[in-house]
Amino acid sequence: MKIIMLGAPGAGKGTQAKKIADLCKVPHISTGDIFRANIKQGTELGKKAKTYMDAGELVPDELVCDLVVDRIQQDDCTEGFILDGFPRTIPQAEALTNALNAIEQKMEYALNIDVPDENIIHRMAGRRACVGCGATYHVEFNPPKVQDVCDVCGEALVLRDDDKPETVMNRLNVYHEQTKPLIDYYEKQGIVHTIDGTQTMDQVFSDIRKILGV
Ligand SMILES: [Zn+2]
Repeated sequence: MKIIMLGAPGAGKGTQAKKIADLCKVPHISTGDIFRANIKQGTELGKKAKTYMDAGELVPDELVCDLVVDRIQQDDCTEGFILDGFPRTIPQAEALTNALNAIEQKMEYALNIDVPDENIIHRMAGRRACVGCGATYHVEFNPPKVQDVCDVCGEALVLRDDDKPETVMNRLNVYHEQTKPLIDYYEKQGIVHTIDGTQTMDQVFSDIRKILGV
């Protein structure tokens, strides 16, 4: 069960990826986690990645891909794995396909969680975070007991810069330019399944289970 999660930032990919990983007992792999693990263990790939990150530069596609391919060849990935946040661009997807071909593997499912931009902007604009303890809320879906006050520590709740409409719109623009073409790319491999991401989290998960047959 080799799965790639596709969908705009804020579509709920990460949440669904974790749920699938728990259900199917396969690792949920994000590039951030791989970077941290390799840097912590001081691997050769980790050292290379760190030089770019320390310089504030993007880690090159080939190196990211080497890290991912190294990760998916570890013992816990024999039954499958879920890639979340990689590939992000066509060159990354091509590098991944080539690297997988070289070890006689290929991706099996690309799960596209489809949510219109305006829904994502609306969702994000309702998020609130505590300035004290970092707890997160949502004005509609998970409101605090007292408006704008943290249930846990009593500090003020704010809309983070990351969740502001202008920031979200910038991220969505990057997604449309660089990442959305991946849907066509994996469509050509015949592995794309599109799920209506405007449904509740449980409905989205139920659709995914049907697709995966689990
Ligand atoms: Zn708090």
